[in-house]
Amino acid sequence: MDFTYNALPARVIFGSGTLPRLPAELDRLGIERALVLTTPHQEADAQAIARLISRRAAGVYTGAVMHTPSDVTDDAVALARTLGVNGLVAIGGGSTTGLSKAIALRTDLPQVIVPTTYAGSEMTPIIGETKDGKKVTQSSPGVLPETVVYDVDLTMTLPAKLSSTSGLNAIAHAVEALYAQDRNPVVSLMALEAIKLLATALPMIVENPLHKEARVDALQGAWLSGICLGSVGMALHHKLCHTLGGALNLPHAETHAVILPHALAYNAVAVPDVMSRLGEALGTDNVPLFFYELAGRVGADRSLRALGMDESGVNVAADGTLANPYWNPRPLDKMEIEALLRRAFNGEPPHVR
Ligand code: NAD
Repeated sequence: MDFTYNALPARVIFGSGTLPRLPAELDRLGIERALVLTTPHQEADAQAIARLISRRAAGVYTGAVMHTPSDVTDDAVALARTLGVNGLVAIGGGSTTGLSKAIALRTDLPQVIVPTTYAGSEMTPIIGETKDGKKVTQSSPGVLPETVVYDVDLTMTLPAKLSSTSGLNAIAHAVEALYAQDRNPVVSLMALEAIKLLATALPMIVENPLHKEARVDALQGAWLSGICLGSVGMALHHKLCHTLGGALNLPHAETHAVILPHALAYNAVAVPDVMSRLGEALGTDNVPLFFYELAGRVGADRSLRALGMDESGVNVAADGTLANPYWNPRPLDKMEIEALLRRAFNGEPPHVR
């Protein structure tokens, strides 16, 4: 099989208790005045970082929200300019990382990202921003962080339900990487490893959110899934989720958790090789059903109705998916996509042909 492999630059510090290495990392990058970013919910984490990096902390901005609205970014860029910062430190999930990337896109400031969910955005050159209710996504190597500091200890507080949906979101990146148009052996290795790690760790985390080994595995899986997402193109699953999130404002990770079994069931017939590799890795002969049952076991909602979608959303999402489709291993059939969405709306098991 022919392929092109494009590795993205990344410096990753991974472990338990790695956060104290942040000041040295800032010094290595020449960051003397950093703006620390997070969401309102994680203000205490940002303040702790400001204390840790002491004289290198120029300010703290806690306005990060989901979907990177441009007015929030404008606000943060203005603060960065007023404070005269020469670097960014982001602590949080994909929302905080998104804000950091959006600021970097406009200012070229170096970034150190400290992820606390399994979203994986820190490993991708992708940045999605919302303006006037429209989400526009672009890819730019300039938004890749200079350093990512993964500290397992910071994920211990991620609530069980958020851990599940965030982890299923990460699994979805890796699953679609396996059948991507530009898939390649290196990314496929990472994808399979990520899926195995996360599928094993998530039920253990839900049972005991303080299970350290499971947290280590989940974060490693999330890191690898992020590389998958950043390295190869995504397909039907991501298009469906982006449409549901963009047009109907459904929550990000939760939507991925609902859609994954259904999108995989739709594509299964077109990618038998991928299905057998997945089946072997997970010890099942029905991979879509495995993911549906996994979502149930880890307490994720399995219906779009439970996420607040109205039934009319089925047609809206089907139209949006077909209007401007991503490449997909199986051609998109309107009636079948609607049927897929209806099953997802009702929380029914996936239909494998
Ligand atoms: P999030 O960043 O919105 O976090 C959800 C909530 O959990 C927030 O309130 C956050 O502060 C809190 N939280 C995060 N970590 C915590 C922890 N350890 N303990 C306690 N609370 C914690 O959610 P997310 O799913 O990580 O990110 C979703 C966003 O990321 C979406 O906007 C999505 O589009 C984007 N995303 C982008 C990419 C990309 O490559 N560009 C990839 C994945 C996700």
